[in-house]
Amino acid sequence: MTSATLKQLAQQLASKQVSSVELATHYLDRIETLNPILNAFISLDRDRTLAAALVADARRAAGEAGPLTGVPMVHKDIFCQQGWKTSCGSKMLDNFISPYDAHVVTQCDAAGMVTLGHSNMDEFAMGSSNENSFYGAVKNPWDLKAIPGGSSGGSAAAVAARLTPVATATDTGGSIRQPASHCGVTGLKPTYGVVSRYGMVAFASSLDQGGPIAQTAEDCALMLNAMAGFDARDSTSLERPPEDYSRSLEQPLTGLRIGLPREYFAAGLDSEVAKVLDDAIKQLQKLGANIIDISLPNTELSIPAYYVIAPAEASTNLSRFDGVRYGHRAAEYKDLVDMYEKTRAEGFGSEVKRRILVGSYVLSHGYYDAYYLKAQKIRRLIANDFASAFQQCDVILGPVAPSAAFNIGEKSADPVQMYLEDIYTLSVNLAGLPGMSVPAGFTANGRPIGLQIIGDYFSEAKMLNVAHQFQQASDWHTRAPVL
Ligand code: GLN
Repeated sequence: MTSATLKQLAQQLASKQVSSVELATHYLDRIETLNPILNAFISLDRDRTLAAALVADARRAAGEAGPLTGVPMVHKDIFCQQGWKTSCGSKMLDNFISPYDAHVVTQCDAAGMVTLGHSNMDEFAMGSSNENSFYGAVKNPWDLKAIPGGSSGGSAAAVAARLTPVATATDTGGSIRQPASHCGVTGLKPTYGVVSRYGMVAFASSLDQGGPIAQTAEDCALMLNAMAGFDARDSTSLERPPEDYSRSLEQPLTGLRIGLPREYFAAGLDSEVAKVLDDAIKQLQKLGANIIDISLPNTELSIPAYYVIAPAEASTNLSRFDGVRYGHRAAEYKDLVDMYEKTRAEGFGSEVKRRILVGSYVLSHGYYDAYYLKAQKIRRLIANDFASAFQQCDVILGPVAPSAAFNIGEKSADPVQMYLEDIYTLSVNLAGLPGMSVPAGFTANGRPIGLQIIGDYFSEAKMLNVAHQFQQASDWHTRAPVL
């Protein structure tokens, strides 16, 4: 049962080999044993989970089960879920019990899925290593000295350690793909607007996008089927006919045009990562794909542009945490301004404060044109780079991160070093494109390495097809850490 995929568990439930209560109990017991060493969860609620599993079993007994009814899952602690604490990894929301459900939560509940718990994450999703959580760093299940990647490190670590078959996550600049890569699991960041942001605590609204992390591409497709869909409560939610994201999984890759951006295979890429990518590309060529040399000339501008735009949006989004309406409030203060100041000084961690300061600065009168406007222009150039690349190829392949997972503490003192981790992931968010990470190998010391697949807008089914075919011809995604 432990290593079963979402697909397999759904089949076992459908054939009544196992009940949802049995599955939930199995995973909760495993979480109870392993979470003390991994710190992948912020909230667990056994009674609530088992009650949801009982409802799922009753639905099945009544003949009303859908394909995912009774399957256990985990939500990143950024998704508001009624009756659950939704902290977003912050002291600011440590006392916040959500009174309502995010759209993603509503959709998963409607499918009959059972929430096992809420996963740990970088505070307000700011980070690349999951060391910024108020609840402490998450450990990488492959090597407890290593970071799991951020900001959805709890979700990725939980799937890797087989504490859940699947988890939700969010990606503003790489937070689904990076932890998926570092933990040896599969993650998909959809096209901006495919998954509703309603009830998903906002970091940088024009970049944030929810998506699944699972063992396989096939499971990501099934999970995206549940998560995606138009929602009038998110003004950037796209009104499109519903899609079956698993419809193309079995298509052969004959004639597929894979673009390899020169800029992604240049200096700065670790040699072990380069070797793993090389092997993966050869594997895909064997499956019938053709390789095309492409260029994304503005890649290196993605870091400065993103680290202006994301903090700018964060500084405005986070202004709502003022101690008045909900969340933390300082215990003692002289007057209203003192209350705001003390509340925010106590409630936010240092990376969040850094972003608020940078964001307020780049939006301020006199600096707006020089920084924010300039960054928006770069954003357009980056989107244009991809538009011309996709005239030559069907998908783009590259690394997810410059190296495999580094050690906890190795980069946390130097924010710029940390930001450089995001060089291969940020452009995708700036352009609003979909991106995936697929397990593709390991370093000599056993740390996972992911392969990034970038697609054109709304090409999720094609990307999942490429990933699934790769997974049919490789077994990296089936490896699990020994815990
Ligand atoms: N590492 C990036 C940041 O810290 C991206 C985080 C994310 O995707 N949520 O902003």
